[in-house]
Amino acid sequence: MQYISQIAFVLVLILAGYFLSKRIRQIRKNILMGRPINRSDKSPERWKAMLLIAFGQRKMFKNVIPALLHLLIYVGFLIINLEVLEFILDGLFGTHRLFAPFLGDFYTVCINFFEFLAVGVLFSCVVFLIRRNILNVNRFSGLEMTSWPKLDANLILIIEIVLMLAILTMNATDQILQARGHMHYTATGSFFFSSILIPLFEGLSDQGLIMTERFAWWFHITGIFAFAIYVTYSKHLHIFLAFPNTWYGNLEAPGKIENMPVVTNEVKTMLGMPAEDGHATPANPDEIGRFGAKDVNDLNWVNLMNAYACTECGRCTSNCPASMTGKKLSPRKIMMDTRDRLEEVGQSLSKGGKGLEDGKSLLGDYISKEEINACTSCNACVEACPVNIDPLSIILQLRRYVAMEESGSPASWNAMFSNIETSFSPWKFAPTDRFNWSEELKQNPKSE
Ligand code: SF4
Ligand code: SF4
Repeated sequence: MQYISQIAFVLVLILAGYFLSKRIRQIRKNILMGRPINRSDKSPERWKAMLLIAFGQRKMFKNVIPALLHLLIYVGFLIINLEVLEFILDGLFGTHRLFAPFLGDFYTVCINFFEFLAVGVLFSCVVFLIRRNILNVNRFSGLEMTSWPKLDANLILIIEIVLMLAILTMNATDQILQARGHMHYTATGSFFFSSILIPLFEGLSDQGLIMTERFAWWFHITGIFAFAIYVTYSKHLHIFLAFPNTWYGNLEAPGKIENMPVVTNEVKTMLGMPAEDGHATPANPDEIGRFGAKDVNDLNWVNLMNAYACTECGRCTSNCPASMTGKKLSPRKIMMDTRDRLEEVGQSLSKGGKGLEDGKSLLGDYISKEEINACTSCNACVEACPVNIDPLSIILQLRRYVAMEESGSPASWNAMFSNIETSFSPWKFAPTDRFNWSEELKQNPKSE
């Protein structure tokens, strides 16, 4: 019987490893569909950003209570999973609480601490479920929050509650079996929180207790494996991607718009200035590539990783002035659309489908011109994002495509572009006229 259990565990472990690694490879492949961008400079600054923002959750603490509850779930998730190591070794070797004899009293302290975190996670998840479903916090609604994103958020909270209850049930039944002197259940000392549940199970026979304890053990470990796979299809991928996402974040001045080297050099050449090193205009126009972005492969790989790291929390949208004033723009939707399109292309390619050649594109089929034109480039969405996601970068690249490849910007914008091109000013005045107002001031200083 013991061997059957071990063989079953090995099979479950192999299956979980297979599906998880397959999905991770798919996500990596999808992200690498993006254009290259060098974000490996300024390493100390990048480590600092990652430690403060992803690990230290600095941006979350703008709103203290949800931040503390989130921190409890996060720390609980990280630390309780240390116990998974013991679960895996027990499953492989057919042992029970393998670490207990080695750690002695420290084992009891550890499990009590894990139980404290488990209760903290349980409490936080219940509060978050209430906020989402009963208090209807505004940030969690919006056009893009269709049935799946809402279900995904609720599902993950419910799964975490059930997994924590499984740990407490397992520990409670284990303690009763220890007290009854059952051979396989070595003494570990008392566990505070699970002891509260003991009256619920005391009436069970030894056999009933063993079955409950084993069921809770299997439920917890298979639940963790299933959770790990599910997370890769869900917004909760941010648990892992928040770290590389902040490390590879944009360290330039907030809202700084990147020039296109090819265009800069063309202008410099026109003005008789030397071109920048390594960025001379290619002789063949085909080598220049597309201006801006129409589809996901035109974005850079950090933009695509951002899309997978988005937690759909809506902080960007609730701080977006365009969204606040009723415009058809939600930076959260920009990120969710990018991820949906990327998944669509990636899944299609992995099944031998048409991929990017399916007649669809991110711009047009997912994100409309009305949305991107509503953006004021204020950078508030980037500031508000707890994991430094940059929806503005995607919006600007889509807008660049519309302006430069389609000349499809609003007529007033096109007029401004030609004024800049011809008069070096957004208005129709020649640059020499620009400071006439100051001449007037000099002649009539009192008008100041
Ligand atoms: S940069 Fe654009 S999308 Fe972001 S908050 Fe400002 S207006 Fe909204
Ligand atoms: S982009 Fe950032 S702030 Fe906006 S929904 Fe995603 S995680 Fe939240």
